[in-house]
Amino acid sequence: MDSTTGSGHAIRGIKRIDLAYVELASSENARDINRDIVLEIIRSQQPISRADLARTSGLQASTVSAIVEQLINEKWVKEGAIARRPRGRRPTLLSLNEELVILAADVRPHQAIVALLDLNGRFLAREVVPLVSDTERSIAKIAASMKSMQAEHADRSCEGIGISMPGRIDPESQRLILAPNLKWGNYDIKRSLEKKMLLQVELANAANACLLSELWSGKLDGIRNAVLITVSEGVGGAILANGQIITSRSGLAGEFGHSPVDPQGPVCGCGQRGCWEVFASSNAALRYYAEACPGAKSVGIQELLRMAEEGDAAAVAAVSRQAVSLGRGLRLLTAALAPEVILIAGDITTSWSRFGPLIQAELESTMLAGPAPRLGTTNDGELSRLRGAAAIVLQRHSAYNRSKPGSGRRARRA
Ligand SMILES: [Zn+2]
Repeated sequence: MDSTTGSGHAIRGIKRIDLAYVELASSENARDINRDIVLEIIRSQQPISRADLARTSGLQASTVSAIVEQLINEKWVKEGAIARRPRGRRPTLLSLNEELVILAADVRPHQAIVALLDLNGRFLAREVVPLVSDTERSIAKIAASMKSMQAEHADRSCEGIGISMPGRIDPESQRLILAPNLKWGNYDIKRSLEKKMLLQVELANAANACLLSELWSGKLDGIRNAVLITVSEGVGGAILANGQIITSRSGLAGEFGHSPVDPQGPVCGCGQRGCWEVFASSNAALRYYAEACPGAKSVGIQELLRMAEEGDAAAVAAVSRQAVSLGRGLRLLTAALAPEVILIAGDITTSWSRFGPLIQAELESTMLAGPAPRLGTTNDGELSRLRGAAAIVLQRHSAYNRSKPGSGRRARRA
C-alpha cells in the first residue's frame, strides 16, 4: 500500500526503480510508513475507532493496535469519547492530541505573523511582528513573540517551529538561497532561531507551505496535478505533479515569478528586467496606480483593493491590469504543466468576485487542448501560509522522515 491511500486511482502502473537512489524495504521502514499512514487516517477522519482504522488502512487489527499504542505514547494521539453504537461493543475513539502544539511564522518583507497552533490547525495565538532591516534583530523579535506565546500556553507541549519564507530554501543546507524581496542575505535563520528557542526549526517556501496546507485541508482530494500561485510583494509558485510537491534542484522549482516576460520591462527584485512578477504582483498593481495618478497619496495593496471595490476607476484599472498579466502567465504554466487546478493565494483574492473572472478569461482565451484548469483561491487566504508552516513540522517529524537522516537504513549508491 502506498501513501496515497484512498485516492481511488486503481491503475497507476509500476513505479520506476531508480538504482542510483533506492531505499530498500526493511521491516523498520515498513513499520514507519504504516505508522505514518495510520496517523494520517486519524488526522483526516477523527474521531475514529481502531476497528475503522483497520478497515480503512487494510492493516491487521493487531498491527493497528500496536501502532496506536506507539502514537499514544508519543503523545500524537489521544483516546477520547466512547462511540455510540446501537448494540455490541462501544469502542473508544481516537483523535489527534491537542495538547501538542506548533509554533509557526509567516515571514514577509516587512512583517512576520507569528502563531501558535494545535495539531488540528486551530490557532491558539496570533500576532503581527514588524520586522527591521537588521536580520539578527528581526529573528530576535520573532523569537520574543514565540516565547511569550509559549509562556501563555505553558500547559501545552511544543513539537517544533515551522517558518514560511518568501523565497527558496535549499533542502540540504536549509539555507535561504533565493529571496529577492527579502534582504536577509546568507543569514542562517534556522540555526539562529533554534539557538534562541531550543526547538527544531523547519523552513519552507511560502507557496509550498500554502500548497501543503491545501492538501492537508482535503480541498485537493482526488487532484494529482495542481499549481498554486502566491500573489503578494512578488509572485511565487508551487507545483503538485502526479500527487507529489515538486521541489527539484536546490528546492528552486516553481519560480514562475521570475520567468522573463518582457526584456524591456521594469527591473525586478532579482536583478533581471521584465520578470512576470513585476507585471502580476501586488506591487505591480500599486505601480500601475501610481503611474496613472501621479501626485496621489501612496496607498497599500489592501487600500487599493478597497478603493477598487468602491468603484474608483483608477484603482479598478490598476488591479485589472495586474489580473490580466496574472492570467497571461497562467497560460504559460498551463502549457508547461497541464494542471487540473490552479489556486491563487494572496492579496487579489480579497476582491475575487471582481478580478477572478478577468484572470479566468485570460487563462481560457487560448487553450492548446481540452478544458482550461479549474481556477480558484486558497481556503483561508492569509492563514494558509501559517497552517502550511505547521504542516511542514508534522511532515518532517513523521516516523519515516525521522528515521532517515544518519540512520544507516538508507541505501544510497552514487
Ligand atoms: Zn525577477
